[in-house]
Amino acid sequence: MEPAWSETRRERYGRQLVLTEIGPSGQHRLWEARVLIIGAGGLGSPAALYLAAAGVGRIGLVDNDTVELSNLQRQILYRTGDVGRVKVALAESRLAELNPDVRVTPYAVRLDAGNVGGLIDGYDLVIDAVDNFATRYLVNEACVSAGKPLVEAGVLGFEGMLTVIKPGEGPCYRCIFPDPPPAETVPDTRQAGVLGTVAGTLGILQATEALKLILEIGDPLVGRMLHYDGLSACFREILLERLPSCPVCGRITWSKASGGSSTS
Ligand SMILES: [Zn+2]
Repeated sequence: MEPAWSETRRERYGRQLVLTEIGPSGQHRLWEARVLIIGAGGLGSPAALYLAAAGVGRIGLVDNDTVELSNLQRQILYRTGDVGRVKVALAESRLAELNPDVRVTPYAVRLDAGNVGGLIDGYDLVIDAVDNFATRYLVNEACVSAGKPLVEAGVLGFEGMLTVIKPGEGPCYRCIFPDPPPAETVPDTRQAGVLGTVAGTLGILQATEALKLILEIGDPLVGRMLHYDGLSACFREILLERLPSCPVCGRITWSKASGGSSTS
C-alpha cells in the first residue's frame, strides 16, 4: 500500500516528485526499498545521509567500529563529542533526525563469511563502503550468489573508483580483480591518507547508483568502472569484461536481456 502523501511529505520530497523519472510512483519505490550499507565510514556516511534524505524506506548499516578522532575529517555522520561511541548506533539516530520516514537497522558486527549471507538476505541491494580487499571479495561473492546488485567503491589519496555489479548482467569484482593482492602490498587510508571530499564524492556517487537501481532509471554503471582523480578533476570510464573462468560468477547464466540470473 502506498504511504499517505501528507502535505509534509509532498513538501519534503517536492524536488524529487516533480522529476518525471521519479514522481509519486518512484517515491513509492524508494519508500519500499531496502538498502544495506556495509561500512559506516567515509563512503558510508554520505551514502547513508543521501539515501535517508531521498526517502529510502529501510536502510541497514553494518559496522562494528567506534568513532575515532581521526575519522571526523571525512566521516560526516559523526561529531567531536561522538568519539568512543558505536558508529551504527549514532548513525541510526542521525538518520532518524534527518528523516523520520526511514527505518534504520544498525548491525554492530564484524562482517564475516558466517554472517554475510544472513545480513544481505533482507535487502534488495548492497552498498559496499568498506576499506579492505578481504571484505570486498566476501561481499562480492555473497551478492553474486544471492543475485543482489552491489554498488562498489574505493578511495585512496586523491582518487576513487566506482562500479556496479549486477549478477548475470555484468562482471563481478572478482572478474575485475581475479587475485586478491597480498595484504602487506596494499596501502590503506591510515598509511596512504585520503582527502575527505574524495571519499564524499564517491559515497554520493554510490548513493546515486543505488537510487537509479531502485528506480530502474538511467544507465547503471554495470560493466564500467568510473575512476575519479580529484587532483586533475578528471573522471575516466574504463570498460570492464566478464572473466569466463571467474570462480565467483563463472557459473551464473548470462542473461542481459531478461535481467535475471540463475546458477547452473
Ligand atoms: Zn566474476
